[in-house]
Amino acid sequence: MKRESPNLTRADLLQRLAAAPIAIGAFAALQAEAVAATKPGHTAPATVQYQPKPKNGQQCSQCRYFINGKSKTANGECTIVAGPISPKGWCVAFSKGDNSKQMM
Ligand code: SF4
Repeated sequence: MKRESPNLTRADLLQRLAAAPIAIGAFAALQAEAVAATKPGHTAPATVQYQPKPKNGQQCSQCRYFINGKSKTANGECTIVAGPISPKGWCVAFSKGDNSKQMM
């Protein structure tokens, strides 16, 4: 581990102490966002590059993990990705298959 320079001035120390709460606050905000974006057993949308539009002709409504919303155009859910999921969305976990599941 690198040791602090013995020439650390009082101004340097105050500057570092002033920056610490900002860094801690930013980290806490990111952590809270990550927790909000996921639910147990589900992946955060950003992790799987989820986007609310189709890609290369593939979309969530064709994916085996999609759970239909209240109508064909309403947002549904995904069994592996957190959050409301657009039937026209897409992510890297796309897997063509049965999509007849319906939200309760
Ligand atoms: S796994 Fe399938 S249903 Fe879930 S977000 Fe990705 S493409 Fe959409």
